[in-house]
Amino acid sequence: EGQLLLSAQEETESSARSYPRRLPVAIAHASGPYITDVDGRRYLDFLTGAGVLALGHNPPELVAAVREQLDVLTHGLDLPTPVRAEFARRQLGMLPEPMRRDRKIHFCGPTGADGVEAAIKLCKKATGRGGVITFQGSYHGSTHATMSFTSECAPKDGVTNLLPGVHFSPYGYCHRCPLSLDKADCGTRCAALLENTLRDTHGGVPKPAAILLELVQGEGGAIPAPVEFVQRIAALAAEQDIPLVVDEVQTGCGRTGTWFAFEQYGIEPDVVIASKGVSGMGLPVSIILYHRKLDGWAPGSHIGTFRGNNLAFASGVAFLDVVARDDVLGNVREVGGRLLAGLRALAADSPLIADARGVGMMLGLEMRGVPSAGVSATEIAARVQREALRAGLILEIGGREDCVVRMLPPLNLTADLADYALAVLKAVLRSVTE
Ligand code: PMP
Repeated sequence: EGQLLLSAQEETESSARSYPRRLPVAIAHASGPYITDVDGRRYLDFLTGAGVLALGHNPPELVAAVREQLDVLTHGLDLPTPVRAEFARRQLGMLPEPMRRDRKIHFCGPTGADGVEAAIKLCKKATGRGGVITFQGSYHGSTHATMSFTSECAPKDGVTNLLPGVHFSPYGYCHRCPLSLDKADCGTRCAALLENTLRDTHGGVPKPAAILLELVQGEGGAIPAPVEFVQRIAALAAEQDIPLVVDEVQTGCGRTGTWFAFEQYGIEPDVVIASKGVSGMGLPVSIILYHRKLDGWAPGSHIGTFRGNNLAFASGVAFLDVVARDDVLGNVREVGGRLLAGLRALAADSPLIADARGVGMMLGLEMRGVPSAGVSATEIAARVQREALRAGLILEIGGREDCVVRMLPPLNLTADLADYALAVLKAVLRSVTE
């Protein structure tokens, strides 16, 4: 039945299908950390709807909150409702204390990309400038503007008239240092390149409307930005009066062990974009939290029909209740740390792993090829994903040349399941070498 569904999809749907190419699973239902396919096979889900299902599938408290809300109101445009007000208050309340006081929330369309669009439009309007600094390896979405801010070239092929004025600065990707430097120095030097680009009046780029930064590149291959790199960029942004926009679509909502990843960098970004994990269970919603000083918007400046998803607000509030009650962030730090330690141990043992990295529940293994056997890192990563799937573990692939095996487990993953996944990976690595 699974094969039938997959081939039916191939025949009738657009060729732009992405996930089923590498994860041929037809999902029947799911619960907690597990997905069950239509043939009755169960998988441990380390993809969680691309990092959306923060508490795994169908978390009971969130389902109950949504059920209750279904009888009250599902969609309310941007009209005030009690659950919307509570959601806004609680979201702003998740910001660190000093930031809370001077921030506003804007409800965007239902996707992360729409949040990015809103953030950059806000900064353009506030500064009167047009350009955007973003980073090599970045991912910000698939609309015209967000694709313009995204570094990967292949999807842009044949899509003409993307936004002008986008400058891609090197990112502190230490494992493949853009300057071929020693690891310890890499982040600092990358920041220095941008400093030069913005300070040098001979050449460089015109002062932009915003610096758009992921603190851990997700699609780029689970790459945490070095602390000094981020701090210098934040200082540069402040010095040059350029709004710093952090795209926390993937890193936000607890994924890295603090509610927002920027809290681990000692910075106060001007705009924070959140989306994937906001509702805690995959109900679409996207928000930006931004400094009041940027608010030059008139009514209608950034609108969209689906900004009033009251079901998402209800589950988002229930999600925050669970986060507080169960110390979900503590679990992310503890079990995520355990996973990272386990991945590093696997790397120490396996010549196929070039780098094990990540933070919290946002982890990756950058694979290495076997040149003597004519096998590329891309092929090794694909084999790891395929064999893991066969063994009942769903993993994602990303990064340069698709050679990073990515993991986005549920934030409430137990230590036992982390150990189980590591054991599966260990066996998979062995089978891939054979
Ligand atoms: N920004 C980042 C950092 C993301 O990871 C993503 C999605 N992977 C997006 C933006 C775009 O979100 P969406 O797919 O919901 O438009």
